[in-house]
Amino acid sequence: MPSTFMQSVSLERILSAALLVSVITVLSACSENKPASDAKQAVVDTLIINGNVYNGIETKSQALDIAICGSEICGVYPTGQHSVKAKTTLDATGKIVSPGFIDPHTHTLAELYSKDKNSNLNYLTQGVTTVVNGNDGEGPVDIAKTARELEANGIGTNVALFVGHGSVREQVMGRAQRFANTEELAAMSQLLTQAMEAGALGLSTGLYYVPGSFANTEEVVTLAKIASKYNGIYDTHLRDESTFNIGFIAALTEAIHIADAADIHLHLAHIKALGVDVWGQSSAAIEKIEHAQAQGVSISADQYPWLASGTKLRSAVMPKWVMADSQQAFHQRLNDASLAEKLSVEIKENIRRRGGPKSLLITAFKDATLVGLNLAQIAEKRALDPVKTAIALVQEGEVRVASFNMSPTDVEAFMVKPWVVTSSDGTNGHPRKFASFPQKYQEYVEKKGLLTIGEFINQSSSKTAKILALKDRGQLNIGYQADIIVFDANTFAANANFSTWNKYSSGIEQVWVNGQQVIKNKQFQEKLAGKFVH
Ligand SMILES: [Zn+2]
Repeated sequence: MPSTFMQSVSLERILSAALLVSVITVLSACSENKPASDAKQAVVDTLIINGNVYNGIETKSQALDIAICGSEICGVYPTGQHSVKAKTTLDATGKIVSPGFIDPHTHTLAELYSKDKNSNLNYLTQGVTTVVNGNDGEGPVDIAKTARELEANGIGTNVALFVGHGSVREQVMGRAQRFANTEELAAMSQLLTQAMEAGALGLSTGLYYVPGSFANTEEVVTLAKIASKYNGIYDTHLRDESTFNIGFIAALTEAIHIADAADIHLHLAHIKALGVDVWGQSSAAIEKIEHAQAQGVSISADQYPWLASGTKLRSAVMPKWVMADSQQAFHQRLNDASLAEKLSVEIKENIRRRGGPKSLLITAFKDATLVGLNLAQIAEKRALDPVKTAIALVQEGEVRVASFNMSPTDVEAFMVKPWVVTSSDGTNGHPRKFASFPQKYQEYVEKKGLLTIGEFINQSSSKTAKILALKDRGQLNIGYQADIIVFDANTFAANANFSTWNKYSSGIEQVWVNGQQVIKNKQFQEKLAGKFVH
């Protein structure tokens, strides 16, 4: 996006002012079948009264009543100073009313496509009303088809989609470990163009993962230019968040170069300094980012509020060259005696980077007796060393791990930056999928006082909407879509943890998605009100 973050803020203010003027019109339209001549006597669908309202922009709460007509917010009034009537009135005395949260980094497509989890209840109960998918270079290439199918299936939250570089690359050239040639790059460009025209938010990459890791910087610049042409953004899981290949700071330099060369907004996914070797590098990273911002590169980031990342054991410890081409080739290399020594050295080093075998907790595996144990414990159980244990496990099936690899100092240094927003990066086996938003609230607002509740809400709503250019979400203002939550600040709490990762959070009492109340008095209403948004 060529315009800077600041420019879009002022544009938004102008838009809000224009929308304010249209309030009377909206109100009248809302009560078309009522013979009300005075707009103040109009009947709106829903009125949320007496709440402490955080509108997503201000950091302090205001005593406001919020009116909903259809899917939109059609009135915002000082509490008690109006005579608007409503078909349904909700008294939010003592509660917080806020925009529904927007999660810019999830992995929820499997749930949204399912018949039993498409309500996305583990997100609604965190206060999240919009989830983004297609991050890390993954996800569907055909955005139009995906959007159509998800809406036809019915979804409990809104969904927005990035088009993933890894997916596009794999469709064109498989998992080949080489740079793309001219024809392949043209084919990728074509797929990306279609995705952007179908409403993708932009291009995502996972340059750490296979096959994204096989691309050079220029390939990504070429593709990012296309996303930029359609006012999309560049969302990246960096090539290295640690010392796995080029190093954290060099990977950041690469991302900034891509954004600068392609004239596109850079969004850093789940910003972190991963592993003991890079602990403390948050200060160098922040300096580099803010220096680039001062030079005119528009940059933001998201972050999940946990000290452990979550991934597959394979991605965590296996060298990339071992995983190239196919699953079969991967297993063959793992059992190739001529590669054994090289492999062993590299895996051992990757385990060390992540804090040693005790720092890798198995959170999901077909053999449930191993879940909850760390790699060191499983190695002991099997009387093998950690490297041989890891090699055996990845061949037995998919192993998910929580990798305790972050320092609290780095996590907190990133969190307070005005360009950082809340995300979950939710995956099975990690409590972040069920509890990231309340976890951040409890740990960093209530317990540590690092953020005010208003800052937390803004980082979870309007700031995210601005980054993603979702123009009518993330604020409680007239003309915005009515994605609204009501919660109790005293009871908003995470219940999931590393031993039980899939427990719903508590404290979210009422939720509206596109004007429909989907959670009422803490009860899910069996309504699928989500839409594909872009
Ligand atoms: Zn990622």
